[in-house]
Amino acid sequence: MVKQAKKKSDKKRKAFVIGAGMSGLSSALRMAELGLEVTLFEKDSTVGGMAGSFAWGEFPHMDHGPHIFHTPDERQAKIWDTEYGDLFYKNEFWGKNVKGEKFDQYYDYPLSIDSLRDFPEDARVKILREISHLDETRKAEAKTYREYVLELVGPTLMEMFFIRYPQKLWGVTVDEMTANWAPKRVNFRRSKGHFHAGQWSAVGKYGAGKVLERMAEKFVEQGGVLRLNTALTGIEKRDDVITALVFGKERVAVGPSGHIVST
Ligand SMILES: Cc1cc2nc3c(=O)[nH]c(=O)nc-3n(C[C@H](O)[C@H](O)[C@H](O)COP(=O)(O)OP(=O)(O)OC[C@H]3O[C@@H](n4cnc5c(N)ncnc54)[C@H](O)[C@@H]3O)c2cc1C
Repeated sequence: MVKQAKKKSDKKRKAFVIGAGMSGLSSALRMAELGLEVTLFEKDSTVGGMAGSFAWGEFPHMDHGPHIFHTPDERQAKIWDTEYGDLFYKNEFWGKNVKGEKFDQYYDYPLSIDSLRDFPEDARVKILREISHLDETRKAEAKTYREYVLELVGPTLMEMFFIRYPQKLWGVTVDEMTANWAPKRVNFRRSKGHFHAGQWSAVGKYGAGKVLERMAEKFVEQGGVLRLNTALTGIEKRDDVITALVFGKERVAVGPSGHIVST
């Protein structure tokens, strides 16, 4: 009995991660570091997902997706400093929101009371009047993203900056999104500041993609198995529990203690 129990605990727990973007690489690497037997499946021929870089004219490292790595978490910052420090330029990054048919209007972003000084006079007067009528109670009771943002910045700023973005990025309207999405996404500051004020922030010295490539290398060094060009096409279930992952003609059995992370 004792022997059997020992044998069981010696057996490595298995984990299967679908997608080698930032989410999949982070979770696969962490689980491999913790001693799990991890296989990471990626449908493309490279890792990175949205985070990748390419050469364009005189620019050797253009990011086609995310570029700013930022975190308020000290443990994460320490990992980036010690294990990826040579791949980063740490700095403060200032954001502008570009508007106008000719893309010739620049607004400080994130928004702040201070930045309203640079708005056209009539818009600023209107916005300040709206801000003086904001209602904290209605904001606390907001059910939708729209209701929350309306009480955070007023109707004019909401229309200018916050209505179209969720629709464009996530394909849902601000009425379909619940209010709890807003505090993480929408910021209205008192004074001007850099985009990720109070956080560790950096861009990739050789493009964002290089950082994710190193994560993949570390994952493999930890004994992880990286399967590129392998798209998940289906799952098999019994009693509502996943028993196998299907990759085209290949079927990978998942035991009862197997972990699956789908990104
Ligand atoms: C233009 C742009 C700029 C951005 N800027 C920033 C920024 O500066 N800072 C920031 O923090 N965030 C930024 N973001 C957001 C950030 O890019 C994403 O939140 C993040 O990259 C998402 O990572 P992910 O791993 O969740 O998804 P993804 O990167 O999409 O990875 C998913 C992976 O799964 C793979 N996959 C999909 N289907 C299957 C399947 N069936 N089988 C196997 N594999 C599959 C895909 O090929 C992909 O590699 C930006 C996004 C964009 C588009």
